[in-house]
Amino acid sequence: MSTSTTWATAWPEGVLARYLTVGGAHVDLTTRRFTTNYTAQGRPYISDRWYEVDGFTWTCRGCDTRGSVNAFGDPYLPTERNKAHEDANGHAAACRSMARPGH
Ligand SMILES: [Zn+2]
Repeated sequence: MSTSTTWATAWPEGVLARYLTVGGAHVDLTTRRFTTNYTAQGRPYISDRWYEVDGFTWTCRGCDTRGSVNAFGDPYLPTERNKAHEDANGHAAACRSMARPGH
């Protein structure tokens, strides 16, 4: 597969940004709806109410690593979009996974 073929491939639904690993696999940044008790201001402001928010996560299609802000696997809050981008890019820069055939 040539590089130009990679760029011509349509991104899957919901993918906001895509990073390329050292080995050629994709790291896809997507929105992720989840429930949190952090307020709209984001960390560390906690409410006694729970909110449904559209946050972010990323998934490496090569090694199946899923991006999260902590060891509990929590997605990124809406206020943490930049961090989600940085972490996805950081994973792509370090991950040597190759693209699976057909991906
Ligand atoms: Zn990876």
